[in-house]
Amino acid sequence: MLITSLLRICLTRSFQPFIFKNKSSNYLDYADEPEMGLYVHIPFCRSLCSFCPYCKVVYHRETAEKYKLALLKEIEIAGSRLKTKKKVTSLYIGGGTPALMLDDLKDIIDCLKKYFVIQQGIGMELHPDDINPEALVQIKRAGVTMVSIGIQSFHQESISVLGRKNTDFAARLRLVQKVDFDVVDVDLIFALPGQTEDILLQDMEEAFSNGATQISTYPFIDFTFTDNDYRPMPEKEKKKLLNSIVNYCWRTGRERTSVWTFAQKNTGKYSSITRDSYLGFGVSAATLLRREFKINTFSLDDYIRKIEQDRVPTALTIDFTLRQRAAYYLFWNAYAMEIHPQKFQELIGKPLNQMYGLELWVGLKTGLIVKRNNVYYLTAKGAYYYHYIEQVYTTAYIDKMWNISRNTAFPDEIILK
Ligand code: SF4
Repeated sequence: MLITSLLRICLTRSFQPFIFKNKSSNYLDYADEPEMGLYVHIPFCRSLCSFCPYCKVVYHRETAEKYKLALLKEIEIAGSRLKTKKKVTSLYIGGGTPALMLDDLKDIIDCLKKYFVIQQGIGMELHPDDINPEALVQIKRAGVTMVSIGIQSFHQESISVLGRKNTDFAARLRLVQKVDFDVVDVDLIFALPGQTEDILLQDMEEAFSNGATQISTYPFIDFTFTDNDYRPMPEKEKKKLLNSIVNYCWRTGRERTSVWTFAQKNTGKYSSITRDSYLGFGVSAATLLRREFKINTFSLDDYIRKIEQDRVPTALTIDFTLRQRAAYYLFWNAYAMEIHPQKFQELIGKPLNQMYGLELWVGLKTGLIVKRNNVYYLTAKGAYYYHYIEQVYTTAYIDKMWNISRNTAFPDEIILK
């Protein structure tokens, strides 16, 4: 992919690709990581949706019991390295369908709390079909403060493309509204085959009017290894739909909080992907530290086996060069549409201007970014280009990485150019 290569060469000032190696270490040096988050992956689903690229398997009770034990042990292996409890920003429980391990949720959270002080809340993904009053009480009691509901679309024709059925999502969302969560995020997919602007904006309105405080709306991406009968819309159509979402939110007084998230004013904001560093637990979970990025094996059996042998289940590690780490930081902070030079310097150890003076100058001159109070913000034009590049990057990097990892539990090496 020409764009990702050019961007990588430009931001890292090097022709060296990103090289992930089959390397693991039981010792993780994260005690001094600032602003660190936690992630737990629950890979079980009732059935597997054809469009979904995530690491998941069909739920099986005995496997889930073994998985829980492995997960707790992985947390113990990482946590027992700490001399004192470590403050972390947040915990996010994703999947899969985490509600399939609802009875284990409290044990998993309590195990993490033995080693970590979670300061800004606990988020959890919810499949709409798992929403009922009893489950919500259990989730709330476990300490969850934010839920992210994978509705994708309220429109039956749109979600039948995804092999889904609308089981009265609006009513389920209203049940969530009755519980006092800080953030209720609804995931919607835009640019679904056949989706018109009217259908999309009705989806947005239905989510907000039934209790969503935030909407994360991602374009439909056809991963090479998923089983979709439909092709994504041309980029021109996607651009039109994204613009209509932006205009709708502007007209109705909602805020844009990242390239693909929009929120009610004066509500909490939540993003699971814009942390400066995080520790991931579970099959396929990723860990990002100051100078390295690790990914656990995607094979559930191998994950459990490794942990039973007292080994970490890391499949791939990249040791970042300084420039690679800086580029990674910039990329994900640009998604949040804000780049703080001071935070950049704290994490990377060098001034932003010194490393990326040329890019900032070009960005300001072309209207992709603006500078206010010493912070750089993406403009609407900058956000559109980011949206475009993020899709190209997903196809060139994430698709390749996940595809290999799905087929090989411990690949020798993955090179991303
Ligand atoms: S979309 Fe959700 S329910 Fe469907 S397979 Fe993916 S994680 Fe499971």
